[in-house]
Amino acid sequence: MNPAAVHADPTTRTGVSVRCVNVVQIYTTAGGHDVVALRGVNLDIRPGEQVALLGPSGSGKSTLLSLFGGVLRPSAGKVLIDGEDIARIGEADLGRLRSGKVASLLQGATRNLLPYATAEDNIDFARRAVPASRRRGLLPPRQLLDRLGMGPLAGRPITAMSGGERQRVAVAATVSSGAGLLLADEPTSQLSHDDRDAMLGLIHQVSDEFGTTVVMVTHDPEVAARMPRSITIRNGRIGSEGRHGFDYAVVDEDGAVHIPDELATEFPAGRLVRFEQADGGLLLRPLEERGHAE
Ligand code: ADP
Ligand code: MG
Repeated sequence: MNPAAVHADPTTRTGVSVRCVNVVQIYTTAGGHDVVALRGVNLDIRPGEQVALLGPSGSGKSTLLSLFGGVLRPSAGKVLIDGEDIARIGEADLGRLRSGKVASLLQGATRNLLPYATAEDNIDFARRAVPASRRRGLLPPRQLLDRLGMGPLAGRPITAMSGGERQRVAVAATVSSGAGLLLADEPTSQLSHDDRDAMLGLIHQVSDEFGTTVVMVTHDPEVAARMPRSITIRNGRIGSEGRHGFDYAVVDEDGAVHIPDELATEFPAGRLVRFEQADGGLLLRPLEERGHAE
């Protein structure tokens, strides 16, 4: 498979890495009080990885996406996009990062598209922000749509498409700039089962063929399980990571490990536990407090 087909020159690689080091994000509300949205996130995403961000409402998923997209700068810590620290680069470089390396799929397909234009024209339009020198190196819109199996939609106006088709065209238009990082906030939330599957298939295809790194927010565990890697955000921190259907706790920079939610009643905050080496793993042994009925 050609790893960089969004570019006419197949040797151009697109995948962008993402790295977070102790990232803290604090919002100051209109009322003047602080909301800590992220409290020390450490994360490494390699070029071309496909990652789902899971987690309850308010856990910090969208905040993390805004940081990856260069829309926000972290209150503390480092966010490195393709090795560039977004807290340290100037506004001009941040703008270049936003328009060149990152592609954000907004919630609601039509917000990404011109409704009365065709799929092909939408891709042309989406590429307007790409400098002409770089645009010349990209596949023509028609060929890009063919490549993604959407050739039959090329000449059709968005208004004449189904919701699922619109969402797929929105993905094509979003990645058509040749950006190496695709960010999507709940891209499957309003789709039928079939459209959701087609959408996931397209996201996998884009990443496999173009080398694009994908970070996708979802609240649907079924969707997350179909991504090679899923990261659960809990209360502004990485809670756990899923690989191939198994959930793993993550050891943090300072050695902290988060207890899975389902064990939270057995291991409440402040509980003393000891680690013991055991056959084939590690045993967590809580201290039996005197007078502690168990
Ligand atoms: P999620 O996407 O997981 O639902 P968010 O990243 O949107 O979570 O929000 C994380 C926390 O930050 C929440 O407590 C939310 O209320 C707060 N928050 C998000 N955006 C703002 C903002 N612009 N101003 C103040 N608080 C915010
Ligand atoms: Mg959100």
